[in-house]
Amino acid sequence: MAKYDYNTIVIGAGSGGLVSAYIAAAVKAKVALIEQGPMGGDCLNTGCVPSKALLRSAKILGYAKRAEAFGFQSIDVTFNFEEVMKRVHNVIKAVAPHDSRERYTQLGVDCLTGKANITSPHSVSVNGKTLTARAIIVATGANPLIPPIPGLDAIDYLTSDTIWTVKSLPKRLLVLGGGPIGCEMAQAFTRLGSTVTVVEMAEQLLVREDKEVIEQITSTFVQEGIRVLTGHKATSFKGKTLACEHQGNTVSIDFDQVLVCLGRKPMTDGLGLEALGVKQHDNGCVTANPFLQTTVSSIYVCGDVAGPYQFTHMAAHQAWYSTVNALFSPFKRFKVNNSVVPWVTFTDPEVARVGLNEKEAVLQGIPHEVTTYSFSELDRAIADSETHGFIKLITPPGKDKLLGATIVGAKAGELIAEYILAMTHGIGLNKILNTLHVYPTFSEADRYAAGEWKKAHVSSRVLNVLAAFHRWRRS
Ligand SMILES: Cc1cc2nc3c(=O)[nH]c(=O)nc-3n(C[C@H](O)[C@H](O)[C@H](O)COP(=O)(O)OP(=O)(O)OC[C@H]3O[C@@H](n4cnc5c(N)ncnc54)[C@H](O)[C@@H]3O)c2cc1C
Repeated sequence: MAKYDYNTIVIGAGSGGLVSAYIAAAVKAKVALIEQGPMGGDCLNTGCVPSKALLRSAKILGYAKRAEAFGFQSIDVTFNFEEVMKRVHNVIKAVAPHDSRERYTQLGVDCLTGKANITSPHSVSVNGKTLTARAIIVATGANPLIPPIPGLDAIDYLTSDTIWTVKSLPKRLLVLGGGPIGCEMAQAFTRLGSTVTVVEMAEQLLVREDKEVIEQITSTFVQEGIRVLTGHKATSFKGKTLACEHQGNTVSIDFDQVLVCLGRKPMTDGLGLEALGVKQHDNGCVTANPFLQTTVSSIYVCGDVAGPYQFTHMAAHQAWYSTVNALFSPFKRFKVNNSVVPWVTFTDPEVARVGLNEKEAVLQGIPHEVTTYSFSELDRAIADSETHGFIKLITPPGKDKLLGATIVGAKAGELIAEYILAMTHGIGLNKILNTLHVYPTFSEADRYAAGEWKKAHVSSRVLNVLAAFHRWRRS
């Protein structure tokens, strides 16, 4: 008789849980996947997929608004907001089969619908039934964080969970929070026709990014008509007016709808973690060791509920470690490798990052050099009227090894892949420079940035020897 019903029970069928269940089934483990809501979690239903679908429609309007840049007098686009939102939902429907119960059942996963509660280090209760497993993987994600700002409760505010059900375009939209989600939504709704104000407590949008990045994004936002209020702390709501504190003064902002984008809170309510002694950090993330094992050794964790990087690709990355460790420990186990973490904010222009930026290198006292390359030098960017962008590379003094890269510009999210590969596999800038890139493409920018690094590191002694050689050849 088997001691456990399953090798592992995965709680949550979002980006992390789906990958966990997939891996477990692929290596022939018996796995149950429990989901209380729609399969696919945030990414499919309320996160990456709908937001990128909306940004795509908004981008078309962005091009139309820049008609003159492409040789047209004007491009008038007539559209119906409801149709745009319908497209967003059609995109979700088109992607949904990838994450569906049918697909995962076919892969050999037992898919269960219901709210899971962990009742012991090896048992989970769902729908009044108890299932047992050698290991449990918590992949329950995160929810929008709603801070206790006086008066917020009294208004019908929107979050990234609810904005997708909006039927008509908000006339005046207040976006609370200038992080990646707030910035993406602010630009999308501005392009669709809302009058948008972004309120951010920090002195800049996208707080993690370097000064030049923010200058580029902020100037684009302002040009497009977004009112950017940084250094403004939301203090209270009175009806449809927000009061902010700014340099000792009170600033009032009227709005029709408010979208709260102030971060995401790990989802652990009702899971039973506390009773079992599974510890959590102050920010709510479940505490885990480098093997993604919680303080109860048979319970593992991955994705937004583990933090610190709340991205789909990080949820999937962690899922590999938590699943392999859950299934094969103590015979084989792996420490999660967070040495190369990339992300992209899908504003237009996009902001893509991997590794360190200049701000972090300075803050951490890491000796470094900075190399920059402007898209205004790139033939394809000129042809496409997309010259507003640049690459910024961080390297150790005198070495071509990448410590980090930031790209701002069209297709930055694609271009960063080459630097992610380079950092992951120890490929230096010399090797990128010695790699053929197709002309005329945006990807050439990666190579030209490496070329800028090379130009700054050519030895003057070698150049003097070469000059002497050529003088001798002419003599
Ligand atoms: C607007 C927006 C845009 C985003 N854009 C991007 C992007 O472009 N790129 C990117 O990388 N990331 C993006 N993200 C972040 C990304 O969506 C998340 O990092 C990712 O979805 C996390 O996956 P997860 O598996 O940890 O959690 P989730 O996807 O949230 O899945 C957790 C699942 O667990 C279920 N669950 C919770 N508790 C229980 C329980 N007790 N019993 C059963 N089921 C339970 C939930 O219902 C949910 O389905 C975006 C997020 C938002 C909100």
